[in-house]
Amino acid sequence: MTFKNLQLDSAMLRAVERVGYSEPTPIQRRAIPPLLEGRDLVGCAQTGSGKTAAFALPIVQMLAPAHGRRRIRVLVLAPTRELAAQIDEEFGKFGREKALRHVAIFGGVGQQPQVEALRRGVDIVVATPGRLQDLMDQGCIRLDAIDFFVLDEADRMLDMGFIHDVKRIIKRLPKARQTMLFSATMPQTIQDLSRSILTNPVHVEANPHSTTVENVAQSIYFVEGGDKRALLKHILKDPASERVLVFTRTKHRANRLAQQLNRARIPAEAIHGNKSQTARTKALARFKSGQTAVLVATDIAARGLDIESVSHVINFDLPNIPESYVHRIGRTARAGASGIAYSFCDVNERKFLREIESLIRQPIAVVGEHPYQSTINAPPMPTAAGNAPKPSRNRRRRRSRANRRARIA
Ligand code: AMP
Repeated sequence: MTFKNLQLDSAMLRAVERVGYSEPTPIQRRAIPPLLEGRDLVGCAQTGSGKTAAFALPIVQMLAPAHGRRRIRVLVLAPTRELAAQIDEEFGKFGREKALRHVAIFGGVGQQPQVEALRRGVDIVVATPGRLQDLMDQGCIRLDAIDFFVLDEADRMLDMGFIHDVKRIIKRLPKARQTMLFSATMPQTIQDLSRSILTNPVHVEANPHSTTVENVAQSIYFVEGGDKRALLKHILKDPASERVLVFTRTKHRANRLAQQLNRARIPAEAIHGNKSQTARTKALARFKSGQTAVLVATDIAARGLDIESVSHVINFDLPNIPESYVHRIGRTARAGASGIAYSFCDVNERKFLREIESLIRQPIAVVGEHPYQSTINAPPMPTAAGNAPKPSRNRRRRRSRANRRARIA
């Protein structure tokens, strides 16, 4: 299957060739033809599947070249600034063929350049809901000429509390439009929303959980909470871990871990929602260029990050939402590449592990031999007593305290 089989016109085929995509990904194969027929669409797919091009290519193809004063004809809503910037970039690549103008609208940066771009006239707006709402309230943006509306990562919009903003924005859009909704998971609220905003949509699914997960070599380290940092440093010593994305539960833990790694001379940076947009963009650029080997992120900040060749994803903390596990490890298997994901699991996280294994419908291999093996309530596994260094006095104390607690429980 090639892009030629998808009814793309010569301008879009040129664009695809220029950006170097040799064959369409599953979501592109399934979504592009019905979109070109003008159908509404619900896409169950996650970032990394190639879903941006799946909607951007047909939209750009269907947009007539602008004549006279430009009006906004495409609106894409995305939950995070990073994702909005990436989608905008993708539209830039394809829209060039038709001299379309596009702008990303998101908070955390001054609004003036965005307002000026809007004033000059754009065809495509990619926005996060908060800043878009602000600009709408200030009368800086009109959405009455929208022909194409994309709601991206709808489930994450819900998780991040944007769903009311999203609904308010949708109320302002013309009823006659083509609508596309993408979501990695389909909770009931999103199913209800899609019923209310889409007309007779086609449903396409690519990347069901198992396929993404199949490309990633996953393993689990049972480790006590207090030993996680030492275990991470131990793993980072391996020269194969060249570009590592580490996930922590909270922003605070992300900051602290990045600082501790830096003190151990491992170049690391934290990326999370409390950092300014400029700081996040810079941290991302340094990570992409290889200046920092380790990026410590929280789920929300990492959502939608498009980083080529992450060698490892390490779940320093297991997520309490099993779907987040799939999103996280998907960072290391972009567009069909294979990747490695390690997860640290302490005694309190065992329940999260069970939920994750039931979601992905497979057990995750346990690393039976490592120097920071947890002995608390550990499920049966090969022992590595001979190889393990003698635990420190603190570790022995922690262990016996935890064992006592486990016995009492
Ligand atoms: P997305 O899921 O849209 O965030 O895309 C994930 C990554 O895959 C991006 O870096 C895209 O540039 C890349 N990509 C999208 N479509 C293709 C394709 N057909 N072939 C190779 N890479 C692609």
